[in-house]
Amino acid sequence: MPSHADRNCAAPAGGRSSPGTGRLSIVGIGPGGRDQMTGRARDAIAGADCIIGNGLYLDQIASLLPGKEIIRSSMGKEVERARQAVELACSRAVAVVSGGDPGVYGMASIVLEVLEHSGLDIPVEVVPGVTAATAAASRLGAPLSGDFVVISLSDLLTPWEEIERRFGLAFQMGVPVVLYNPRSRGRRDHLAVALALAMRHLPPKTPVGFVKDAFREGETQTITTLGEAMDRIGEVDMHATIIIGGRETRIWRRGEDAKWIITPRGYERKYLY
Ligand code: SAH
Repeated sequence: MPSHADRNCAAPAGGRSSPGTGRLSIVGIGPGGRDQMTGRARDAIAGADCIIGNGLYLDQIASLLPGKEIIRSSMGKEVERARQAVELACSRAVAVVSGGDPGVYGMASIVLEVLEHSGLDIPVEVVPGVTAATAAASRLGAPLSGDFVVISLSDLLTPWEEIERRFGLAFQMGVPVVLYNPRSRGRRDHLAVALALAMRHLPPKTPVGFVKDAFREGETQTITTLGEAMDRIGEVDMHATIIIGGRETRIWRRGEDAKWIITPRGYERKYLY
């Protein structure tokens, strides 16, 4: 039975601020270390006295956390985390950290929904961050230069049949498709299904890029083709983002080993260069 946050803001035991002075920031911290954060994200963390987030993301910004109260949470506990953040924000400056951008498969919507249901009048801001799609794209070249589609392979909150239906539509469009949450132990086959669907609409030479742990320690990048990607899905895990090119996407071979992916924006149709 879903329950809502308590409408009455109670003063926290030992809290540092007085009731009614709280505020809430939902902060996107980007894909990697603190270099990948925006200035506003850093300021929002600096200005908060209580930081709530998934352990992985808190570790990513550990150097910004001394002196703060830290509440570590884990994957799958997002609703609980959102409720706790709203309750604490009655009287504290709270920052909820979210990897990448908080509005892209992140914490922004659940925190705002909990706040909406609570009826509490707490100032709130959503601080954008660099999302995995653009972080991964930058490592591969310029694969997302025009329209593109973003789909998550996670069926925890969206039924798999619906995800499959969306894939079919996306690949028919012929624009690049970015896959978030491509693989986990419980979902080994989803990526294979997605690639098979892509093969129905796109030629085997279509570029495909995998970027694992973009802007984090141990980052890897792979540039391959749709025809060969199926044999390489063993390299993909939940820390990877996959970009499947569109009809116009191509690989730029630069010397022996270096490869980049480019989706032309269309300048070639108007200009000579
Ligand atoms: N809010 C996040 C996305 C969370 S969903 C954002 O805007 O980026 C989690 C998925 O994001 C992962 O399964 C992976 O597909 C992708 N992801 C997040 N950080 C990544 C990184 N540093 N490198 C590659 N993929 C990443």
